[in-house]
Amino acid sequence: MRYSALKVFTQGLTGNKGWKPVWREPDPKPQYNVIIIGGGGHGLATAYYLAKEFGIQSIAVLEKGWIGSGNIGRNTTIVRSNYLLPGNQPFYEMSMKLWENLEQDFNYNAMVSQRSILNLFHSDSQRDAFVRRANAMMLSGADAELASAEDLRRELPFLDFDNARFPIKGGLFQRRGGTVRHDAVAWGYARGADLRGVDIIQNCEVTGFDIKDGVCTGVQTTKGAIKAGKVAVCVAGSSSRVMAKAGIRLPIESHVLQAFVTEGLKPVLPGVITFGVGHFYVSQSDKGGLVFGGNIDGYNTYAQRGNLPVVEDVAEGGMAIMPMIGRARLLRSWGGLMDMSMDGSPFIDKTHISGLYFNGGWCYGGFKATPASGMCYAHLLARDVPHPHATAFRLDRFKRGYLIDEKGQGAQPNLH
Ligand SMILES: Cc1cc2nc3c(=O)[nH]c(=O)nc-3n(C[C@H](O)[C@H](O)[C@H](O)COP(=O)(O)OP(=O)(O)OC[C@H]3O[C@@H](n4cnc5c(N)ncnc54)[C@H](O)[C@@H]3O)c2cc1C
Repeated sequence: MRYSALKVFTQGLTGNKGWKPVWREPDPKPQYNVIIIGGGGHGLATAYYLAKEFGIQSIAVLEKGWIGSGNIGRNTTIVRSNYLLPGNQPFYEMSMKLWENLEQDFNYNAMVSQRSILNLFHSDSQRDAFVRRANAMMLSGADAELASAEDLRRELPFLDFDNARFPIKGGLFQRRGGTVRHDAVAWGYARGADLRGVDIIQNCEVTGFDIKDGVCTGVQTTKGAIKAGKVAVCVAGSSSRVMAKAGIRLPIESHVLQAFVTEGLKPVLPGVITFGVGHFYVSQSDKGGLVFGGNIDGYNTYAQRGNLPVVEDVAEGGMAIMPMIGRARLLRSWGGLMDMSMDGSPFIDKTHISGLYFNGGWCYGGFKATPASGMCYAHLLARDVPHPHATAFRLDRFKRGYLIDEKGQGAQPNLH
C-alpha cells in the first residue's frame, strides 16, 4: 500500500479500517542469499538498499528483540555532516543527501526536520579549529556557516554568553543538519524492505555461526539453523559479543550512553545546540520536550542503563550554556549500548572469514549515518568491493596505521 494524502483522506472517511500491518511476520526459511544480523537502523537500511538498489533477492533480517528496540529507538535523533577528516566527511555528507530525499524514497513520514545544528565555541583556538572544520565540510559539498557572538545574541538570546568560565564566542552552523524521528526511520526502512520481499524475523537471536574451512555458510538461531550465501553482522552495541561467536576479536568496547527528555515546553529551541567545552547537546521535540545528552558512562558495560555521575555532568553542561534549563523538569532518561571503536570511526568491511561481513563501531554517532551505512554495506555485500565513500572503514586500519581519529583522542573509547 502506497501512502499518500489521498489515502489518508479516504481512510479517514471509511473509519481507518483499510490500513495493513507495515511488515509481515514470516517464519524463517531454511536458506537465504543474504542474512543480515540485527534489525536496527543500519541492518534494515542495508536490507532495503540491497533489494532496491542492487536487486538482490532472498534476504532475511534476523532481530533478537523487536524492530526499534536497540539504539535506533534510543538515540537523540540528531543528523549532521559536520566532520573534518577525509575518510569521514564525504561519507556523512552522502548520508545527509540521502536523508534529504528519504521520505519520498521509502514513502514514509520519518519527520526529517532540517532545523539546523549549532556547535558553540568558547575560545579563539576553538574558533580556528571550527573554521578548519567548516572548510573541510565545504570542500565535500556540505554547508557551513560561522556565526559571531553578536549574531547568536540576536538569534538565541537565552544562551549564557557571559558565563565566567565558558563565555560563548560564536558558533559553527550547519543549517541542513537537524533531527529525524528515530523509530520512524526503522519502521520506514522495514516497510520498504518488506515490500521488496525481505523477511524481517523478530525474536530471532543469532547464537552461533556455521564456519568450516574459513567459510561461513549460515547461522544458528533461537529459531533453528539457517543457511546463507553471505552473513552480514550489523548489531551495533553487541558487535564484540556477536563477533566473538565467530572467533573474531574487534577493536571495539561497549559503553552506555544516556539520553534525557524534559516535560513539554512551548517552542524555545529552533534547532540543535551543542556545548563546546563539555559534552552536552540539546534539541526540542515536536511535542515540546527538551531532548538532550552528553558523555558516555566511562566504563565498559552491556547494560542499557547508566549511572548518576553522568546525569550530573550532563546537567552541568546544560546549565553552563543555557541556565533556563534548570527550571525544566526531567521526565525520562534511558541508556543505549555504544559500540565504541578505538579511533571513534566505524567499520564496513569483509572479515578474514569468507562470506562473513561486519558493520559496526558507530560509537554514539551512528544514527546520522544510517542511510549511508545501509547503502555502503549493501554495495559491499552485492559487489564485494567497498563503496567509494567507505573505503577507509577497514578492520585492518590499526594494523596499517591509517586511523581516522576525528577527535584526536587516541585509542581511548571512553574519551571519544
Ligand atoms: C542515548 C543515545 C543517543 C544517541 N544519539 C545519537 C544522535 O543524536 N545522533 C546520531 O547520529 N547517533 C546517536 N546515537 C547513536 C546511534 O543511535 C547508533 O550509533 C545507531 O543507532 C547504531 O546502529 P543501529 O541503529 O543499527 O543499532 P541498533 O538499533 O542497536 O541495532 C542493532 C540490533 O542488533 C540486535 N542484535 C544484537 N545481538 C543480536 C543477535 N545475537 N541476534 C540478532 N540480533 C541481535 C539488537 O537487538 C539491535 O536491535 C545515540 C545512541 C544512544 C544510545
